[in-house]
Amino acid sequence: MICPKCEYEYHRGMSVCPDCGETLVTNKDFKGHLINPKDWIIVYSCADGLEASMLKSNLEGAEIEVLILNQNDSSFPVVGDLSVTKLLVKKSDAEDAITIINDINKEN
Ligand SMILES: [Zn+2]
Repeated sequence: MICPKCEYEYHRGMSVCPDCGETLVTNKDFKGHLINPKDWIIVYSCADGLEASMLKSNLEGAEIEVLILNQNDSSFPVVGDLSVTKLLVKKSDAEDAITIINDINKEN
């Protein structure tokens, strides 16, 4: 699933963009160009940077490579005080990563 506005690819479990609220479209329906490299996919987003780094170390413990994308670090101007941290993994690791993240969130 892809946000037509932000041009990020999201895991298929998500239906609305956490950044802009836009309804995500399927990869087939998306006509533009993705900003992100094709083999990375967003599996999780949250407003809490600590939660993101906690999940990152858990995933890395399972030998899954993780990228953290934070709007505060990007060169894009942030509208309002919205700060969303995104977790990206390689597409081949996406299912495993989602399972691990769901397990962790269940415990909380
Ligand atoms: Zn968006």
